[in-house]
Amino acid sequence: MANIIDGKAVSARVKEEIRQEVEGLKAKGVEIGLAVVIVGDDPASQVYVKNKEKACEAVGFNSFKYALPAETTEEELLALVDKLNKDDKVDGILVQLPLPKHLDDKIIINNIRPDKDVDAFHPVNVGKIMIGDYSFLPCTPAGVMELIKSTGTEVAGKECVVIGRSNIVGKPQAMLLLHENGTVTITHSKTKNLKEVCARADILVAAVGRAKMVTADYIKEGAVVIDVGMNRDENGKLCGDVDFEDCKEKAGYITPVPGGVGPMTIAMLMKNTLTAGKEHHGV
Ligand code: NDP
Repeated sequence: MANIIDGKAVSARVKEEIRQEVEGLKAKGVEIGLAVVIVGDDPASQVYVKNKEKACEAVGFNSFKYALPAETTEEELLALVDKLNKDDKVDGILVQLPLPKHLDDKIIINNIRPDKDVDAFHPVNVGKIMIGDYSFLPCTPAGVMELIKSTGTEVAGKECVVIGRSNIVGKPQAMLLLHENGTVTITHSKTKNLKEVCARADILVAAVGRAKMVTADYIKEGAVVIDVGMNRDENGKLCGDVDFEDCKEKAGYITPVPGGVGPMTIAMLMKNTLTAGKEHHGV
């Protein structure tokens, strides 16, 4: 039976470290603020935004929520981004994605000041991640790295396979593993012999978006298996890309869904906001 990686516990530890640092900053008169912008009423986005507000409260940040109607125009949204860019009380700006179809994510993100782009989606921050000179961490991949670290597994020299090559997860994940000196393979929907490639991995990260696709025959005995996927199974229950029941005997370490990578993403967002705040206040 694999060791189950407790994402909730690791996330709680990271947030507690942030809370203590924020307490120290407050004693010096430094307040940190995160602005969260949500457009429309997508139910999943509402939940994510609520969780982000709760996390801000838990670590001691000021949170500013801007809930805009679904019919908000690009001009109106850009005007808000511009206002937040100039607001000294706002250290981080997060525009919840996806935006309604008539709004272009790219245009909006490109207009967030890179030093307030705590999601690390702005091309400047993406480029910095590529060259390994970054202050903002790509949230989900950085959360995955914390989970790997929590197992005591050294990434250097290990065979690492990432399934998925999205700009938000797969690609930055591969970069972070590479920066830690892993030998990294990125796979995707056109990869041949996916099972065989995955079965080479000492560290396997699945970010596909296909319920329970990764079965025991994809994994090497004793591998660290990290499941980024958030899907619904045939009964509408939340599940990952990894078939947990099938893989749990063979893996060395495995993340559950829920309770694995999910809680880490928000913890890393809090970390980025702290970094932004410290930079803005010259701490
Ligand atoms: P995308 O849909 O943007 O990317 C999915 C990737 O998986 C693509 O690169 C695609 O390949 C690849 N893929 C699809 N089918 C296969 C297949 N059969 N074999 C191999 N590769 C395949 O998704 P995201 O990266 O945004 O998200 C992935 C999953 O992670 C989703 O379930 C999402 O909900 C979850 N997620 C969870 C987060 C968290 O906080 N826990 C945060 C972000 C995402 P190709 O490029 O060739 O199309």
